Amino acid sequence: GKIVLTGIKPTGDLHIGNYVGAIRPAIELTQEPGVKPVYFIADYHALTTMRDPKELHDRTYEIAAAWIAFGLDPDKVLFYRQSDIPEIFELTWILSCLASKGLLNRAHAYKAKVEENLKAGRDPDTGVNMGFFNYPVLMAADILLFKTDLVPVGKDQIQHVEIARDIAENFNRTYGETFRLPEALIDEATAVIPGLDGRKMSKSYGNVIPLFSDEKTLKKLIFRIKTDSKPPEEPKDPEESTLFHIYRGFAEKEEVEALARRYWEGIGYGEVKNMLFELLNRKLVEPRRIYRELIDDKAKLDKWLAEGAEKAREIARPFMNDIRKKIGRLL
Ligand code: ATP
Repeated sequence: GKIVLTGIKPTGDLHIGNYVGAIRPAIELTQEPGVKPVYFIADYHALTTMRDPKELHDRTYEIAAAWIAFGLDPDKVLFYRQSDIPEIFELTWILSCLASKGLLNRAHAYKAKVEENLKAGRDPDTGVNMGFFNYPVLMAADILLFKTDLVPVGKDQIQHVEIARDIAENFNRTYGETFRLPEALIDEATAVIPGLDGRKMSKSYGNVIPLFSDEKTLKKLIFRIKTDSKPPEEPKDPEESTLFHIYRGFAEKEEVEALARRYWEGIGYGEVKNMLFELLNRKLVEPRRIYRELIDDKAKLDKWLAEGAEKAREIARPFMNDIRKKIGRLL
């Protein structure tokens, strides 16, 4: 099977856009034949920006609980926390020594930061820590250590997979065939869920519906979604409606078609809001219950993380030994 690796940053405060755009497709992947999905919580990646120890800790558990609440089975797929695998960080150093600084200078996130600083008349590296600069190498180690074939990414992340390939090729040229060359798997099909104000739902816009809101909050937020002022009987284009776009992200095909017809016939937004609430609540009630249970008693999550780490290290340890031999640390 092809190894498909997905890193999940523990940013927490997940919203329904994250679910439709990231969590659900990743969990659907586990049902595909010929695919061996690997998921990890990229907690040390978060250290490039996160400075609150409690936040890093809590977010990690929130992410683990969320993924399991939506049906990720840690007994069936490899699921681990990045910082539990010391081999990743040893490999990061070795790969750093094979990555030219020029290559990393060209990484989008760093380049954007430099340009922003220059525009503001600041030193180009203001606010840049070495972790942020070296982030693509840590990502290369994440990818290469687990012999990844495919990395599902958004368009903005393609370059990171290319950097991993570059570094891997350099290593292979220098020390002999060692790393499998990964490819980016670009998913253009997943829907973008709009937020309360109609723009893309995003933490940065403060327009989100949190994934694990209680029923009351969920209803309140749905009734706050912006609509135009067309009266109920007036025919409406569903494509122009935020409510419809969110509904489509969660409903079955027939339900979506039925609602689209109702839009053209004329339907009141109050009724659509009630339908959307019923739908979301039905889909989220069970995950919400499991999530709360896991967060309130972390022992289960701890056990899964420990088992995941053990399984991941069974793969990482022998491969890391090969790598140590290749570079001459072991002979
Ligand atoms: P930020 O505002 O900090 O960028 P965000 O709320 O946009 O955060 P991310 O953490 O950037 O969310 O994204 C996590 C994952 O969720 C990514 O795979 C992203 O494509 C997906 N995602 C985020 N927002 C949406 C959305 N509105 N619709 C569909 N997918 C989304």
